[in-house]
Amino acid sequence: MSVNGINVFGVVGAGQMGNGIAQVAAASGLDVIMHDIQPEFTERGLKVIRQNLGRAVEKGKLTAEAMEATCARIRTSTALADMAAADFVVEAATEREDLKFKIFRDLDGFCAPPAILATNTSSIPIGRIAAQTRRPAQVIGMHFMNPVPVMKLVEVIRGLRTSEETFQTTWQLSLAFGKTPAEANDFPGFIANRILMPMINEAVFCLYHGVGTAEAIDTVMKLGMNHPMGPLALADLIGLDTCLAIMETLHEGFKDSKYRPCPLLRKYVEAGWLGRKSGRGFYAYA
Ligand code: NAD
Repeated sequence: MSVNGINVFGVVGAGQMGNGIAQVAAASGLDVIMHDIQPEFTERGLKVIRQNLGRAVEKGKLTAEAMEATCARIRTSTALADMAAADFVVEAATEREDLKFKIFRDLDGFCAPPAILATNTSSIPIGRIAAQTRRPAQVIGMHFMNPVPVMKLVEVIRGLRTSEETFQTTWQLSLAFGKTPAEANDFPGFIANRILMPMINEAVFCLYHGVGTAEAIDTVMKLGMNHPMGPLALADLIGLDTCLAIMETLHEGFKDSKYRPCPLLRKYVEAGWLGRKSGRGFYAYA
């Protein structure tokens, strides 16, 4: 399959977002290269994709042949230089500005001149990432939601210098993945995390101040506001390190104390309680 001339789709980072993005791209018919820094991380990513697709086969939503065809379209790599073969790359590595800056400088060197470089960053301004490259017109935010195969939204974020062509290709790709894109401009946290993360942070403050237990806070928001998940359970799903990084970006970007991260959030991250992915966050996971 080809979407706006895109045949080979690269994903940098094979964590919970990266492997989900690789899955939806391969399922839509694109050839995918999924990269991470260690073979065990790409293998873990592939294992998650197989588990997800396997569940769809068990439920009769997918044939075993379609599952195998999707998996066969994904190859893995631990050398970023392999992204030279990609027409469009989405970076979904850890939410750290220095790390993303280096990845974009390296991608800019490895990838062919027409290639588009997108970032799945939750909060870091696109313009700052784009400025690391010599192709700022071809840098864009493509922000998927977690879990990627399930959630319908892709927030598409234009940097100041993003071209209309780059925007249109990203929009068309989102549609080809079966997603509904929504457009946002380049501010820290964009739309989704500008609204969601202060709510999660406030829930952590409620726990910190003893307003309620984690269970009570989540029950109030689930049953009282009709949210499918409570904010603390959602924070555990997102990853507390990612939540803290987003709050830091909002706080730093707007210089407004209303975005200061709750000290309890920082304490949990420093203790290695990162949520589901580490087995412990606001809740314990088996
Ligand atoms: P994660 O911790 O599950 O995965 C991050 C992956 O990046 C890891 O596998 C890690 O090994 C890899 N990585 C680290 N340095 C790398 C490098 N130099 N090159 C290649 N890979 C590298 O994190 P995640 O939840 O998948 O988040 C990834 C990105 O997606 C972040 O920018 C995050 O803000 C964003 N995001 C997360 C969510 C969410 O709910 N977790 C939602 C939307 C966007």
